[in-house]
Amino acid sequence: MSTGYVHSLETFGLVDGPGVRCVIFMQGCNMRCRYCHNPDTWRICGSSSGQAGDGSVPEDYGSHQAGSDAGCVGSRSEPDGGGLRRAGEDLCPKADAAGSVREYGPQELFERVYRYKNYWRNNGGITVSGEALLQAEFVTEFFTLAKTKNVHTALDTCGQPFREDPEYLRAFDRLMEVTDLFILDIKEMDDAKHCSLTGHSNKNILRMAEYLSEHGKDMWIRHVLVPGLTDSEDGLRQLADFMSGLKTVRRAEILPYHAFGVYKWEKLGLDYTLKDARVPTDEEIARAEKLLGIRK
Ligand code: SF4
Repeated sequence: MSTGYVHSLETFGLVDGPGVRCVIFMQGCNMRCRYCHNPDTWRICGSSSGQAGDGSVPEDYGSHQAGSDAGCVGSRSEPDGGGLRRAGEDLCPKADAAGSVREYGPQELFERVYRYKNYWRNNGGITVSGEALLQAEFVTEFFTLAKTKNVHTALDTCGQPFREDPEYLRAFDRLMEVTDLFILDIKEMDDAKHCSLTGHSNKNILRMAEYLSEHGKDMWIRHVLVPGLTDSEDGLRQLADFMSGLKTVRRAEILPYHAFGVYKWEKLGLDYTLKDARVPTDEEIARAEKLLGIRK
């Protein structure tokens, strides 16, 4: 049995998958998206990043330099995390006085969330969010328990941990078997822009989408819309083209940028580089949806 590091739970989620869902936000993420509203979830706990064959552990918040692709770490997880080390900090916020991360065994977490099954009715279920792929072994065990009770399982991921070496794929395939829906963020199609935005290449992320399609796994694709940053016509058309080549995209969504998490960056002493960014207007969202073919 593996240990899962859970940042928080939402018992009545309405946006992360179909129906009413219990959403489990896992701790740890290698990406450093400039618009991230949960930088407090970045730090990786215990050996969670070692699951599914990923041997790297970014040891810091790693806030990469704004507007620069210096530090983009390519298609594999690298120990550096693409950023600046904050020396002397603890790895995991469970070590902090106010840390909220909680350790769970798969059975313990399942018993915790299954109490809410009456909310789920016929089309809801469980979504594991945060960067669920960094704790793939735990999520596989957790979802396996859910499937014994016919609970719908969704996995929300940025795809960054995905890679194609045989050991990783064996673990990933086991996870795929017990995952009904993948919710995949595609943040930029242009690799250089993706690096600048997140600190990581998108090559393996796009490959993951293709792999899911090849294996007949349903997916939703989501794109965060930041006016002037992630809304270029060219980029959105490229995303539409890419999605049209996938056989199993059941839904595509625009997630409008918001700045609700800026206070967390400030609290953590991180430099928020999108201070001038604004929320997209309804017209800008409609334009993006038309370019993606979501709206006619
Ligand atoms: S992938 Fe998600 S959690 Fe990770 S940095 Fe980006 S927005 Fe934040």
